[in-house]
Amino acid sequence: MMAMADFKEKLADAVVLLNDEPMARHTTFRIGGPAELYTVARDAKELRIAVTLAQEWVVPYLVLGAGSNVLVGDEGIGGLVINNKGAGGRPLAIGVQGRDEELWVESGMSLARLARETAQAGWEGVEWAVGIPGTVGGGIVFNAGAHGCSVAQVLDRVRVLMPQGRVEEWRAEELGLAYRRSRLSKGDGVAGSAIILEASFRLRRASRESLHQRLEEYEAYRRRTQPHQASAGSVFKNPLGYAAGWLIQEVGLKGYRIGDAQFSPLHANFIVNLGQATAVQVKALMALAQERVLENFGVALEPEIRFLGRGEVGE
Ligand SMILES: Cc1cc2nc3c(=O)[nH]c(=O)nc-3n(C[C@H](O)[C@H](O)[C@H](O)COP(=O)(O)OP(=O)(O)OC[C@H]3O[C@@H](n4cnc5c(N)ncnc54)[C@H](O)[C@@H]3O)c2cc1C
Repeated sequence: MMAMADFKEKLADAVVLLNDEPMARHTTFRIGGPAELYTVARDAKELRIAVTLAQEWVVPYLVLGAGSNVLVGDEGIGGLVINNKGAGGRPLAIGVQGRDEELWVESGMSLARLARETAQAGWEGVEWAVGIPGTVGGGIVFNAGAHGCSVAQVLDRVRVLMPQGRVEEWRAEELGLAYRRSRLSKGDGVAGSAIILEASFRLRRASRESLHQRLEEYEAYRRRTQPHQASAGSVFKNPLGYAAGWLIQEVGLKGYRIGDAQFSPLHANFIVNLGQATAVQVKALMALAQERVLENFGVALEPEIRFLGRGEVGE
């Protein structure tokens, strides 16, 4: 207990620290009980300070980006949640590698801002990310993708903070990026606790007009096809040969609700929060879909969202 009080004092000297902060305020699902301790890292420097202090004091910690791919339990999260969004991170440096341009950004930068600012500057490569409400760090962990492209195709290198406090530079190939996963997306020993501080992307020159047009098309497509209520995007990965949304619709669950959690009538692979949904309700819907799809199609639906709750931080 004494150590925790000392840790809080030390951390509060460096960053703004909140106790029992409701995570529903910091997830796109608008679901989640309180984090025992909560801080916002406004840039990569603050992120490094908070993580390093938690490591030194052996306090369980979790780095969260925009909270757009997680379901936080109703009981909340023990230990320290470090919210890496702040002002959205900064572009750091631009260089040239062969015929490609290389752009370094902080991991807390939003994917949408990355897409917009690079398109505005006449660089092609990440415009597909314009409608994804996550950060660069969270996008790398789950190899975010849309419109036939993903992080894996454009990421060059990352700087990661290791559990021992060392900063390492990894090439994208070392991250094991695959469909909505990487070596950081599941507890994977040492690598499981590595935190992405900065990332570099390989971009190409293109006309601003064509990039701008592509951004508009992608945004219009999302407005047409995705629900507007609070959600965490697709809840299940698409199993080989199937669209998860189609499977959920075929087993009669499109539009089905438990409490305020509902399989969206617009896109069945989205669970939306109609107001007061709980994590228990979302999990019950997911379990029901998994059961029915397995029974009817022999296909196991694998969650795309990550569950976070007591006992899961720091694993
Ligand atoms: C409306 C909507 C639409 C979406 N559309 C898409 C889509 O088209 N394609 C797609 O791929 N996804 C989509 N998503 C899901 C989500 O936005 C992406 O997966 C996004 O990349 C997650 O980023 P985040 O910053 O929100 O991560 P979080 O949800 O904050 O975190 C996800 C995981 O990454 C870890 N993490 C976060 N930052 C770091 C870091 N710096 N270092 C180490 N670990 C870290 C967290 O601990 C957590 O385990 C959508 C979500 C919503 C709500």
